[in-house]
Amino acid sequence: MSGPIYDRVALIGLGLIASSMFWAIKRAGVAGEVTGYARSQATRDTARRIGLCDRVCDNAAEAVEGADLVVLCVPVGAMGQVAAEIAPALKPGATLSDVGSVKGAVIAAVQPHLPEDVYFVPAHPLAGTEHSGPESGFAELFDNRWCLVVPVNGTEEAPVAQLRTFWEALGAHVEIMDPDHHDLVLAVTSHTPHLIAYTMVGVADDLRRVTDSEVIKYSAAGFRDFTRIAASDPTMWRDVFLSNKDATLEILGRFTEELFALQRAIRTGDGAHLHDYFTRTRAIRRGIIEAGQDTDAPDFGRAKGRK
Ligand code: NAP
Repeated sequence: MSGPIYDRVALIGLGLIASSMFWAIKRAGVAGEVTGYARSQATRDTARRIGLCDRVCDNAAEAVEGADLVVLCVPVGAMGQVAAEIAPALKPGATLSDVGSVKGAVIAAVQPHLPEDVYFVPAHPLAGTEHSGPESGFAELFDNRWCLVVPVNGTEEAPVAQLRTFWEALGAHVEIMDPDHHDLVLAVTSHTPHLIAYTMVGVADDLRRVTDSEVIKYSAAGFRDFTRIAASDPTMWRDVFLSNKDATLEILGRFTEELFALQRAIRTGDGAHLHDYFTRTRAIRRGIIEAGQDTDAPDFGRAKGRK
C-alpha cells in the first residue's frame, strides 16, 4: 500500500466489525492514526489491553475530533443517538460512515443530526461471524467479501470514491447500491435466513420428544449450521428486524407461501414438485461457490475433528 487513505480514522463502537477493521487497517497501512471509543469501560479496558486502536478515548466526541473518517460500528438501533452525540465534534469536510446491516433506517436516523459540511457515506461490509466484542475481530474478515457502499442523494463523488478505495484496501470488493435495494437484498440473503435459523433452533429446543443430547450429538446433519447462525448477537439482530421491517416481512410472506407449497407436496406425495424445487435450489449453491463466496469442501471445509 502506498500510504494512508485517511490521516485519522475514528471507530465508534469496538466490537467484531470495528476490531476487524482496525486490524485490517493496520495490515494495509491506510490510516495515520486510528482512535476508538466504546460506551462501556470494560470494552475500553479490553481494547487498551489488546492494543485495539492507536488511542482509545473515554468519550465519543474526543475520539472523532480531527478525524477524516468516522465509522459508526454500533447496533443499528443506536446509530441515531450516537450520531447526535458526535455531530458537534465532527471536523468540517470529514466523512461519516457506518457498517450497519440495514441502510434505510440508519440513514433516516443519522442524517438529520449531521452538519452540512460533513459527507455522509453509509456502507455495509457483508462479512461477519457469530462472535462479538472487541476480542473477536481479525484482519482477514473482509478479504474477498463484498462491501456495499450506499451513498445518500447528492453526496459528492470524491468522498464516495475515497471510501471505496479504503474498503478495497481492507480486502473487500465494493459495489454501490441504493438504500431500498440494499435492504431488500439483505432481507433475502441474510435477515430472513437468520430468522429461520433462530426459529429452527427454538423449535428443537421446544421439542421434548428429541432430547437435548440427541440434538447436539446428531447436529452435523444440518442443524449445526443453524445453531451457529442462531448464536449471533441478540441486540444486533433485534435491531436488524425492527429496522428492516418492510423488506423482511415481504420476504417472510413469500417464504411462508413456498413453505406451505412444499408442505402440501410432502402431504400429497408430490415427489416431482420436491425434486424440481431442490434441483433449482442446488443450482443457487453452485452459483455461490463459483462466485467465490463459499467453499465446496465437504462439511464447509471444517478441519477434521474440529467441532
Ligand atoms: P458487537 O461486536 O456486538 O459490538 C457492538 C459495539 O457497539 C460494542 O462496542 C458496544 O459497546 C457498542 N454498543 C452496543 N449498544 C450500544 C448503544 N446502545 N450505544 C452505543 N454503543 C453501543 O457488534 P458488531 O458485530 O461489531 O456489529 C456492529 C455493527 O455492524 C452493527 O450495526 C451490525 O449491524 C453491523 N454488522 C455486523 C455484522 C456481523 O456479522 N456481526 C456484519 C456486518 C455488519 P460495549 O462493548 O461498550 O457494550
